[in-house]
Amino acid sequence: MEGKQDILSLSSEEVQQAVQALGQPHYRAQQILQWLHRGVKSFDEMTDLPKALRELLAERFYIVNLRMLDKRTSRAGDATKYLFLLEDGNTIESVVMRYNYGNSLCLSTQVGCRMGCKFCASTIGGLVRNLSAGEMLAQVIEVNSDLENSGERRVGNIVLMGIGEPLDNYDNTVKFIKMVHYPQGLNMSYRRITLSTCGLVPKMMDLAEEGLPITLSVSLHAPNDELRKLIMPVASAYSIDEIFKASRYYFKKTGRRVTFEYALISDLNDRERDAIELARKLRGFPCHVNIIPLNVVRGVGYKRSSPAVVERFVSVLKSQGIAVTKRRELGLDIEGACGQLRRSYIKQAEVER
Ligand code: SAH
Repeated sequence: MEGKQDILSLSSEEVQQAVQALGQPHYRAQQILQWLHRGVKSFDEMTDLPKALRELLAERFYIVNLRMLDKRTSRAGDATKYLFLLEDGNTIESVVMRYNYGNSLCLSTQVGCRMGCKFCASTIGGLVRNLSAGEMLAQVIEVNSDLENSGERRVGNIVLMGIGEPLDNYDNTVKFIKMVHYPQGLNMSYRRITLSTCGLVPKMMDLAEEGLPITLSVSLHAPNDELRKLIMPVASAYSIDEIFKASRYYFKKTGRRVTFEYALISDLNDRERDAIELARKLRGFPCHVNIIPLNVVRGVGYKRSSPAVVERFVSVLKSQGIAVTKRRELGLDIEGACGQLRRSYIKQAEVER
């Protein structure tokens, strides 16, 4: 792969330019992209291209290869978690969640994360590196092939909620989002894509400027900055007021309501007064609130709230007219919380070493 370019990370315009530079007609770019998004592993499989072109492509480019190291399906069959090995030996996770409206894929955008949220498994070892757009796309392609092999529907929705902070890898993430929208490829509507961020305000503003009608989801997890700082270091950089301002701007630019994620942690952010404070701040705001029961991470002291406390929190928000949903829990028995399977793999590798 030395000296070769990663073709899966090229935008359709860049593939067109590459094809042009090789003196080929522009429809070749469409053919190449179709093959790539369908999941071929080598240029040799692109059978409608002349052999000389296939050889030329193989000399200049390589196709990102993810190796499936592990695949676990929950007992209930509603979630499947994949552990993929990248070419440099790093690992990432992707999770398929089966809903009655279709299959949703939760993707990783970085190897590790540097945001430091206290309750999250993905950030424990810090950030290793960004994923390329091609490595994000390869997750969708691999999972689609696997679903098709077992006679299942392809991925219908994408949520950027796996390992990593997507807005900390802004350019690659936006490039990837545009790639899955590409009509000759996966042809996914922007409305079927959700990007989740811990609240990097300047990047939220940049994303609003892109004008892509994807759903923006912000991990809030607290009704005020003081409480938020206890669990999310990013709260010291950007206030909730700034997050709200950026969220309104996002709504203005894209017409899409922002979702606020709120994971309930026992005796920390789940009190009645937290719900009242949150409801007061959100009244009249064009948003949804998504309540997440905490996934308990081994070695981290936080506990999940009891079902009665969750109900109380939800009903306070509802009584104030806030649009609120409770996230259905999938895949708890397969280390559902993002980053956990990768952690256990790293630990295992350390033991074996
Ligand atoms: N970095 C992005 C996206 C990845 S995390 C973000 O912060 O939004 C996806 C979602 O899972 C976020 O809302 C995150 O706060 C939440 N999350 C992380 N660890 C969790 C845990 N142990 N239990 C429940 N939700 C968790």
